[in-house]
Amino acid sequence: MDTHGPTDTSDTTPVDLLIRHAHIITMDDAGTRIPDGAVAIAGNRISHVGPDADVATKIVAARTIDARGGPLHPGLVETHLHASFQSIRGVHLEDTIEDDILDAFYLPWFDVVTSEEEGSACLLASLEMIRNGTTCFMEAGTVLDTEAAASAARTVGIRAVLGDPFIWDRPASVVQGKASLETARRTERPRVQRAPQDLEDALAVLGGELRRNEDPEALVTGHIAVNGLGTASEALLVEAKRVARAAGVTLDMHHAYSPADTAADRDRYGRDPLIHLAELGILDSHTTLAHANHLTDVEADLVVETGVNLAWAPAASMLWGHGGTLHGRHAEIWRRGGNIGLGSDSANWSNDFDLFKQAMLALLTARDVHQDRTYLVADDVLRMATRGGARAVGLEDRIGSIEVGKKADLVLHTLDRPELRPVTDMVRNLVHAARSKSVRTVVVDGRVVLDDGVFPHLDEPALLARIDERAQAMLRRMGQQALPDPMPGRR
Ligand SMILES: [Zn+2]
Repeated sequence: MDTHGPTDTSDTTPVDLLIRHAHIITMDDAGTRIPDGAVAIAGNRISHVGPDADVATKIVAARTIDARGGPLHPGLVETHLHASFQSIRGVHLEDTIEDDILDAFYLPWFDVVTSEEEGSACLLASLEMIRNGTTCFMEAGTVLDTEAAASAARTVGIRAVLGDPFIWDRPASVVQGKASLETARRTERPRVQRAPQDLEDALAVLGGELRRNEDPEALVTGHIAVNGLGTASEALLVEAKRVARAAGVTLDMHHAYSPADTAADRDRYGRDPLIHLAELGILDSHTTLAHANHLTDVEADLVVETGVNLAWAPAASMLWGHGGTLHGRHAEIWRRGGNIGLGSDSANWSNDFDLFKQAMLALLTARDVHQDRTYLVADDVLRMATRGGARAVGLEDRIGSIEVGKKADLVLHTLDRPELRPVTDMVRNLVHAARSKSVRTVVVDGRVVLDDGVFPHLDEPALLARIDERAQAMLRRMGQQALPDPMPGRR
């Protein structure tokens, strides 16, 4: 039941939104859960949290949502994502070779895609994330027109942390270790025309997105994203960290994604890559390394000691067969007190933006690799997706838990899904059974952006049709089409 307007105005505090009769999973330090709880929201912040009987009598709300016993948790935080790739989802064949498409597809694609198309893809990504319970994402710095991304995020109402486009100063093809720096310099390879070409270009762009942080209440903020994987000189890395530190924001970069790029970094630096980054002063609790699938013992120790965050994107490694979940140290580092957030990476590197999927993969692969049922439990991965993510994107003081004073980024699930019945332990049932299927209502920054399964502020079917049309036209312009797969199943 959903009611508008006050029922009893005597001796009460006015608020904008009241969610009653929810099973609240607060994700506070104590892991508090409130079985029949209420959350009140004034403006964009949480004003009251507690048992329904206590909270509901104290306030009068402009709108009340009856959760009817459904679980309510903090919005999930996406820590590694390329939002604009969403319009090229599903274009690669099952036998496509990853190294080949970087030169042959992605770099030329950046010269073809328009701002309107980037915005369209970011809309698609944002709609998908909200539907799956994600209320905030940190973009990895590969949207060329960040204003298009910001506008898309605001249209859908999702919190976004954007990075300057392509902070790199070395040939892009060094990525994946497929070419040495010398070879890459000698060889004519595609360059992204609108991206920086050298250190001077990169420094001219660096820090531009931080202008968004001048408004402390902004829905779209900025951080420093460095592409990484061999594409940044030491001078650029050091300067990027200096700028991030001065602004109090996260420095985010790809690191040790595949065995090949990790080996290339090791050759280049002549030692474990993370030791080198530590010597450069890059590693601290305001730096987030995306992937970090291949770490030595010493490097795993460094992650724990320095507090550097890892954005674990299990599907991205599994989809391309890089062994990240077999060799990754993420679960071990989490158990040792290090911080882990979860990431979906991109279309064609995990294909959907559903952090519940990443949470499930994290838990299952950790248990399987360690042959230990308790290695990660449901609460661990939900915490990675909320508190862990909030810390990794530099917003833990504002989001990541349901506590008074924090921004109201909330996800309410419906019990009207078979996967959440019978009503037993809500966290186990969410992680192991329902995941994003039961997401019903999503609040971001105090605003109801998904209301009982419907986007109240936009026409989703019309928007999806337009996004699809634009993507098809773009692919035709590139001479690309999504071909049926030449690899049938093996039976
Ligand atoms: Zn990435």
